[in-house]
Amino acid sequence: MVSHNRRHFILQAAGLCAALAGADLAFAALPPVDENDAAAGSLGYRAKASSVDTAKFPKYHAGQTCANCRFYTGAAGEASGPCPMFPGKSVAADGWCNVYAPRV
Ligand code: SF4
Repeated sequence: MVSHNRRHFILQAAGLCAALAGADLAFAALPPVDENDAAAGSLGYRAKASSVDTAKFPKYHAGQTCANCRFYTGAAGEASGPCPMFPGKSVAADGWCNVYAPRV
């Protein structure tokens, strides 16, 4: 017979594994921001920073990308990651929007 402590541990470990798998799937499943949707358009988001419309968004300067923005929470080296400006979506590491603020 399995002791209460051992059974408790096994159940907790199983729950942790399920939670981690769920979190991993949730992250992996984040769809990319569509440059043409309303929120992206209003913030001037582009998946390639070099294609920003500088006439409309003069704040952009070469070298600014999501990867070096303080709001980007993607892992270093990843092609995309989350940003709170676009909940439930992923932004391109090479992207940019008008809320850009450099990491300090
Ligand atoms: S706030 Fe920063 S990380 Fe988010 S989309 Fe704009 S530039 Fe990219």
